Amino acid sequence: MAELGWLDELDYGAAMKHSAVVFRTHELTRVYYTGEVEIRALCGVDLELYAGEFVVLLGASGSGKSTLLNILGGLDRASSGEVWYGEQDLSRADENQLTEFRRHHVGFIFQFYNLIPSLTARENVALVTDIARNPMTPEEALALVGLSERLDHFPAQLSGGEQQRVAIARAIAKRPEVLLCDEPTGALDSATGIRVLEVLQRINRELGTTTVVITHNAVIADMADRLIRVSDGRVSEVKDNPHPVDPQQLRW
Ligand code: ADP
Ligand code: MG
Repeated sequence: MAELGWLDELDYGAAMKHSAVVFRTHELTRVYYTGEVEIRALCGVDLELYAGEFVVLLGASGSGKSTLLNILGGLDRASSGEVWYGEQDLSRADENQLTEFRRHHVGFIFQFYNLIPSLTARENVALVTDIARNPMTPEEALALVGLSERLDHFPAQLSGGEQQRVAIARAIAKRPEVLLCDEPTGALDSATGIRVLEVLQRINRELGTTTVVITHNAVIADMADRLIRVSDGRVSEVKDNPHPVDPQQLRW
C-alpha cells in the first residue's frame, strides 16, 4: 500500500475501506454431496476484498478456506449466493468466461508447487508468459522472487522453498490483479516459509497485487493488512492490522 504511505495510521483502516473493492461475495454457500451425505462447506459468506491489500485467511482445517478461495478464483462455483469480481458477476459467468477470468486476472499458489519436472525454472515460467497478454519475461519474474541465479535449474535441483518461489514467479509473471495462495508455506520449514512470505509481501508492495494467503498458522496474520477468520463455513472475524510486520519478524 505504498500509495497510502502519507496517511497516518489512524486513517489506515478507513483508507482501506475506500480503496476499490476487488471481490464482493453475498450470502455465498457451497454444498458438497457425497453419496447420501451433504457437507455444507460454506454457509453464507459476505466478504469484501480491497485493491492492493494483503489478507490472511485463517481457520482450522475443514473450515472452508480452500472452498472460498477456489470460488473467488473461478476454480469452483458457489451453490447459491453471489461472487463479484469488480463489475463481473462470477456466479453467472459461463465456463469460457471463468477461464478468461482466471487466465488474465488471477495467479494461484498452492502448498505443492506443481512444477513440470522436465522443464527448467525459466521454462516453467515461460509456459505461462507464452499465453499471457502483457507478461514479464521469465527472467524478470524469477528476479522478483530472488532466483536470477537459478534460471536453468530443474525442479529436482532446487530446494522446496526455491521451487515454491518458481511457482510464485510463474503465478505473477502475467501481472495478475489478484494472487490467491492456499497454504503456500504449508510444506516448508519456518525459515524457508518466511523467505516465501517475504517474496509475497514484496510482490504485494511492488506490483500492488491484491493478495490472499490461506493459513492455519495465526502468526502469519501479523504481516497482513487484514485478518479474515473462517469458522465452520462462515466469516467469524474480520480485523484490520494497523501495523503489519515484516515476515523476518515472524516466529513459529
Ligand atoms: P479448509 O481449506 O479450510 O481445510 P475446505 O474448504 O477444503 O476446508 O473444506 C471445507 C469442508 O468441505 C470440509 O468438511 C471438507 O471435507 C469438505 N469438502 C471440501 N472439498 C470437498 C469435495 N470436493 N467433496 C466433498 N467435500 C468436500
Ligand atoms: Mg484447505
